[in-house]
Amino acid sequence: MENKVFTKCPSCGGENTVMKDAVQKEIDKGTMLEGTRIPAFYSSVPIMSPTSKLLAPKTVPVATFIFDVCSDCGCVYCIQVIEDVGQVQMRPQKSPRQPGNPFIGN
Ligand SMILES: [Zn+2]
Repeated sequence: MENKVFTKCPSCGGENTVMKDAVQKEIDKGTMLEGTRIPAFYSSVPIMSPTSKLLAPKTVPVATFIFDVCSDCGCVYCIQVIEDVGQVQMRPQKSPRQPGNPFIGN
């Protein structure tokens, strides 16, 4: 996998996004530095087997998907994919019974 940049809305072909426009207004006012980018939202996904057992924090490849919203048609689309590495940690395991939870029998 490699880093990818998608510069046009897949729906209408527009190149402006809500966050790009909002950040540009701040850059024009002088409150943000040129080149600042803020995603509407993003999601990072570790590239590892979902069933692998983690006994210790582990460094694995991570794909980060950055999304924004087209200013012209409102389509939400991925504007960039970044491949990086990150550390994943073991999640706390849920106990089968949770004392005090009224939805789980005793
Ligand atoms: Zn669009």
